[in-house]
Amino acid sequence: MQERVNLLGMTRSELEDFFVSLGEKRFRAQQILKWIHQFGVDDFSVMSNIGKQLRATLQQRARITPPRVLEEHTSGDGTRKWLLQVDEGNSVEMVFIPEEGRGTLCVSSQAGCALECSFCSTARQGFNRNLSAAEIVGQLWLARRALGCDPRGGRVISNVVLMGMGEPLLNFDNVVAAMELMTEDLAYGLSRRRVTLSTAGVVPALRRLREVSSVSLAVSLHAPDDELRNRLVPLNRKYPIAELLDACRDYISRDSKRAVTFEYVMLRGVNDSPGQARRLASLLGDLPAKVNLIPFNPYPGSGYSSSPPQAIERFAAVLQERGIVTITRRTRGSDIGAACGQLVGRIRDRTRRNPQIIREAC
Ligand code: SAH
Repeated sequence: MQERVNLLGMTRSELEDFFVSLGEKRFRAQQILKWIHQFGVDDFSVMSNIGKQLRATLQQRARITPPRVLEEHTSGDGTRKWLLQVDEGNSVEMVFIPEEGRGTLCVSSQAGCALECSFCSTARQGFNRNLSAAEIVGQLWLARRALGCDPRGGRVISNVVLMGMGEPLLNFDNVVAAMELMTEDLAYGLSRRRVTLSTAGVVPALRRLREVSSVSLAVSLHAPDDELRNRLVPLNRKYPIAELLDACRDYISRDSKRAVTFEYVMLRGVNDSPGQARRLASLLGDLPAKVNLIPFNPYPGSGYSSSPPQAIERFAAVLQERGIVTITRRTRGSDIGAACGQLVGRIRDRTRRNPQIIREAC
């Protein structure tokens, strides 16, 4: 039997081609997008505006399959985390963070991660594979279903951040397709500003991204100089800070209202001194930038600890005095291992320390 294609990760134009290949009209793509993503349907038989015969063909040739929910946890602060199985050996995590006036879904882009940022627990899992577009957008599909509707008519999930497991820019095509669906009016219709891609700084891919997408950009900087960043984010040896900042500047250059968010994990005695804050401020200089300070979330054997609150406050004050909008991220969901850098999933066949993966993808 022919393998059925999964329609969940297909963009509008891919679906149009699919229907044309079945001898059908292109506009079917619009109908099916709405059924899948707006109504959260995975069963062709309920698609009432699609004729019986076409529904039968779809049943034979296609499917709508999200990842499978293995575990679900709710934190004391309302944060929710799901462990999702993507194949027999691999599962990834997704997190929902409710806040006053908004709800943010944090999705994974890879099973594991090939970058070896020294403080991140996902890195210790090693890398197994890229997630498909269906597995990425399927997280939003599942979360929407699980979280239901806002009784006041607002959006329960108002923002999506690609800040879960993996380096999104090393899974370029699938991530771009998934983000296209997130922002597609016939699917989730999120504004491009409310979809944020976070990267450790894969410069050539960031330059390519500029050509095809205009989602918000977050960059995991974590250090004000190359020497320290080489140690914390080894990818920096390949794409040093100056090149990365150039690519960031170009990324936002088309839109004068845009800024890049720089993530900076606060590691006690490593990158948290006032001198380093001053260096960071001068580094960001004229760039439209916001800084997001992330208290380090400890895990056993990490070798790091979080900067004390006073050190974080001092660091933030130095940046603010120099006119840089600085926000200290509140740690959410740490009681269920859902905070930044705590996402681990389960990864089979780790291809640890494999620079090949990075070389091939760039
Ligand atoms: N690879 C992408 C996407 C992951 S985003 C990137 O690097 O941006 C996850 C964010 O959490 C990154 O900024 C990462 O550096 C940060 N992080 C990783 N481990 C952490 C930890 N233990 N505590 C706090 N933040 C951490």
